[in-house]
Amino acid sequence: MPFNQTNVQFADSDQKMPALFVGHGSPLNAIEDNEFSRAWIETGRALPTPRAILCVSAHWETRGTRVTAMEQPKTIHDFGGFPRALYEYQYPAPGSPDLARLIQETVTQAKVGLDDEWGLDHGAWSVLCRMFPRADIPVVQLSLDHFQPPEFHYALGRELRALRNKGVLIVGSGNIVHNLGAAIFDADQQFDWAIEFDETIKRLILAGEHDPIVHYENLGRVAQLAVPTNEHYLPLLYILALQDPGEPVRFFAERVSMGSLSMRSMWIG
Ligand code: ZN
Repeated sequence: MPFNQTNVQFADSDQKMPALFVGHGSPLNAIEDNEFSRAWIETGRALPTPRAILCVSAHWETRGTRVTAMEQPKTIHDFGGFPRALYEYQYPAPGSPDLARLIQETVTQAKVGLDDEWGLDHGAWSVLCRMFPRADIPVVQLSLDHFQPPEFHYALGRELRALRNKGVLIVGSGNIVHNLGAAIFDADQQFDWAIEFDETIKRLILAGEHDPIVHYENLGRVAQLAVPTNEHYLPLLYILALQDPGEPVRFFAERVSMGSLSMRSMWIG
């Protein structure tokens, strides 16, 4: 690889970065004080300081894989019906065109396009504003290619492993169980199928059995109810793919909220 600025900024580091999957749930977690926002704040304090953050959010689906490459990503308010304070919220973290190019060079199974139109959607900023409230760490987002099967996303995640040794924190943001059609907005109840699917995935994660997680469709009716569309599930596959054999995993949130949203969040490393 030629010697350039990118290689200096993202040189190999002695410390391997953890990798996180965050169940993001409601955008209100960005501004509300609750058990999830508190867990994210604590997680941010426990993390080593990254050189940059790569976020794979459920809320950016494209044809082909893209990575944000602008100097200053805008805060995207991609939701409806929330209080004004949420629409006015800004997360002014810089981008990192260097990291975007490094990702483009690193990934071989797909041609990753450099994007200058997206920014930070709420899957990214509603979580990162809690973990890194100073917004001083550069952030790039990687899109989900809507037209690819789950195994593609897992394989793409495998290719990103080297970034953990270069000071890059990789954060997947989605929800293991995400069925908004079934959500109960003013009650703190859980559907049996939501708990069952969430517990099954937890057990498989702890057993290091990634294959049945990738092929979740084989988990039957509970999988159909828990993952009616898979954009919130796929970020989990990117993060599991980053796990080295035997590497520890722990959960820093694990509750089904609003009936049908699993807030399960995991730290690998
Ligand atoms: Zn979401």
